[in-house]
Amino acid sequence: MQHSSIYRMRVKKNIRMTPAGCADTVILLALEPVYGETLRPFKPGQFVRIGIPRLNEPAPGFFAIASCPEHPDSYEFFVKHAGPLSAYLCDINEGTELEVEGPLGKGFDLSPFKGADVYLVGVGTGIAPLRTVWQEIIHHREDFGKVSIYAGFLTEMHQLITEELEELSRHHIEVSIILEIGHDSWDGPIGYVQHALEADAPDSTHAVACLAGMSAMVDACTETLQNLGFDESRILLNH
Ligand SMILES: Cc1cc2nc3c(=O)[nH]c(=O)nc-3n(C[C@H](O)[C@H](O)[C@H](O)COP(=O)(O)OP(=O)(O)OC[C@H]3O[C@@H](n4cnc5c(N)ncnc54)[C@H](O)[C@@H]3O)c2cc1C
Repeated sequence: MQHSSIYRMRVKKNIRMTPAGCADTVILLALEPVYGETLRPFKPGQFVRIGIPRLNEPAPGFFAIASCPEHPDSYEFFVKHAGPLSAYLCDINEGTELEVEGPLGKGFDLSPFKGADVYLVGVGTGIAPLRTVWQEIIHHREDFGKVSIYAGFLTEMHQLITEELEELSRHHIEVSIILEIGHDSWDGPIGYVQHALEADAPDSTHAVACLAGMSAMVDACTETLQNLGFDESRILLNH
């Protein structure tokens, strides 16, 4: 089983991340190896394909791994209820088995960028593959210069892992949260992540950026970063 490209994993945790009053559901889903198997290693930014055993519909879908790449005991994912497969996953019980293929994709390879400043830019569940990058950076913090995260969410209720993001200052990692729709007590930036990047105008001289999110966001951020002097080789995507 371990050597087959599609194998079984079991649901370890299904925790709702968005509050009950939020119109959108995002869960933290953790999958652990079935008895006798070991977790396949992964690189920051990689994803897997998850399917429902013995079913072709809903079709399997891709989900970015959000766990710490050093000594993980499970794969964690942020899954947004968006259609039939994600609806099934958002309702799944602990102990249920799923079919998994991967880890897949090139991930975010920062090894050629030792000493560089790092910008991690993502929206919504796009924060998942970036989480594996910042957790890796924390273990090798001295290898990088300034590290900044730009995380965009629709509203305050859509924010994910708020406490974890707040605590990153202990590792000298700056975090900017951008809400598309603000509220009375919100004094942070409002709008899209690319506008926050534009406003801060990071120095591109010795810098690399990792982008994760829907394609419109990735395209807009790529254009903004190029205008700031980042060439293509220093704007990384994980797939
Ligand atoms: C490389 C890769 C990594 C991905 N990682 C994640 C992840 O970490 N978490 C995750 O929830 N999804 C992720 N997705 C999307 C995921 O694979 C599915 O497309 C998603 O779960 C919807 O599938 P579905 O079958 O439930 O619904 P579908 O019927 O396939 O989709 C329903 C609608 O929702 C839109 N949609 C899909 N996903 C999202 C989303 N996250 N936010 C807003 N709109 C969306 C689709 O464009 C479509 O219009 C990733 C996709 C790719 C290609």
